[in-house]
Amino acid sequence: MSNLDLRPAATVCGGREDVTARPVRELLTAKEVALGESTMVRRLLPNLGRRMVGAWCFIDHYGPDDIAQEPGMQVPPHPHMGLQTVSWLHDGEVLHRDSVGSLQTVRPRELGLMTSGRAIAHSEESPREHARLLHGAQLWVALPDGDRHIAPAWEHHAELPRVTGGGGLRATVILGELDGAVSPGTTFTPLMGADIALAAGTDARLPVRPDFEYAALTMSGEAEVDGVRLAPGSLLYLGCGRAELPLRADVDSAFMLLGGEPFEEKIVMWWNFIGQSHEEITQARTDWAAGTRFGEVHGYDGAPLRAPELPPVPLKPRGRTR
Ligand code: MN
Repeated sequence: MSNLDLRPAATVCGGREDVTARPVRELLTAKEVALGESTMVRRLLPNLGRRMVGAWCFIDHYGPDDIAQEPGMQVPPHPHMGLQTVSWLHDGEVLHRDSVGSLQTVRPRELGLMTSGRAIAHSEESPREHARLLHGAQLWVALPDGDRHIAPAWEHHAELPRVTGGGGLRATVILGELDGAVSPGTTFTPLMGADIALAAGTDARLPVRPDFEYAALTMSGEAEVDGVRLAPGSLLYLGCGRAELPLRADVDSAFMLLGGEPFEEKIVMWWNFIGQSHEEITQARTDWAAGTRFGEVHGYDGAPLRAPELPPVPLKPRGRTR
């Protein structure tokens, strides 16, 4: 998906200043962002109080929306740099096209993982024949300096490892490792992402890593994570320093758990780009406008997205401030 803010703010991320070494329960509220004409997304990251969780740097939760009489998702070709995108669905399907020639329908609980490296362009749309409901999350992972100039790539993993726990816990490992189960998706920093379903009445403890920071967002129902009831539209930041995470649910619920080693490099995020300087972001914007570097997306019925204007103040990676 694209950041469709008409005036996207530049966000400076990374560094340890903001990382909480001890376990915390910090409840953050989503910002509602219009995506096209009919869809609202809940932007959970970056958030006023938090910019990254490990290398996770962007989380949009959308739906469930009834798109039976609508075209659904229609995101024209747009560029990315310096990040990976994770497409994750609970309902519906998304047709992905990109400038390395991929054409792939992503379905619920399948991983669509795009590594932009130095440059890629892609489009995402609901297929003409689509399910009634569209419900999912779009997430980005920042690439570390040593890997951010690699060649772009697309991965689709329809089979992901599952973890079952006592009392009605069923998890799908999206990226990284959870309780010994490892996702086939390529990662560049120590991180994890999982989709965790809790049947009504579940009371479980999930093993996690003390050196990772974690956050949770509810997709449906109302999961209780470390004693905090979490409805859709909020992000619960959990900090570091835990060996296990207490989970409960009174109703059938599903939430995403995202974690990783704190991301220490300073980065600048603007629109759909991550770079290390204002110059890099400006150059990427210029290259997209000129039709160079990012390649071409074939088959999408519509014009590519135009980059918004850059903010008047130069973007500086100067550490996290609140
Ligand atoms: Mn995108």
